[in-house]
Amino acid sequence: MVDGKVLIVDERKCTGCLLCVIACSVVHTGDIDLERAHIQVWRTDEDRYVPLTCHHCETPSCVRACPTKACHQDEATQRVLIDATKCIGCGTCVVACPFGHAHYDEVAGVSVSATTVTGAWSAFASANRRPSPTSTPTTTTG
Ligand code: SF4
Ligand code: SF4
Repeated sequence: MVDGKVLIVDERKCTGCLLCVIACSVVHTGDIDLERAHIQVWRTDEDRYVPLTCHHCETPSCVRACPTKACHQDEATQRVLIDATKCIGCGTCVVACPFGHAHYDEVAGVSVSATTVTGAWSAFASANRRPSPTSTPTTTTG
C-alpha cells in the first residue's frame, strides 16, 4: 500500500476542462504543454471524460516490463516512480500499463508517470474549482 498522499479522481464530476492537465504540465515542465502533463484526460465514445492518474499498483506491470529498472517501486513508500537518468525511452512501460496512464514525453525523451505525486496533486487541486480530488494518507488510487 502506498505511503503518503495520492491523487483520487471522481470521474463522474469531470467536465473535461483540462485545467488539471494544464496545471500539471506547468508544474512538471514550466510550460503549458498538455502532451507532457502527468495527468491525461481521455474522452470516451460516450462523451464521458476519464482523468488518468497512476494507480501505484501493488504489482505494477510497468515495473516488471522496464528493461533498465528506470521504472521502479520505491521501497519505502511503494510509489511507482521513473528514474529519468535510467530511462532509455523505449516505451515498454507505456505499453505495459493496463490503465493507459504511463506515457512518453517526447521533449524530455523519457516516459512519465506520477513521479511527483504531491506536486501533481497540488496543481490539480489548485486548478480544479470543484472539490472532486481528495487526498488520503495511505490508500491507493486504484
Ligand atoms: S503506470 Fe500503470 S501499471 Fe504502472 S503503477 Fe501506474 S497505473 Fe500501475
Ligand atoms: S520508457 Fe523508460 S521507464 Fe519505460 S520501460 Fe523504457 S526504460 Fe523503462
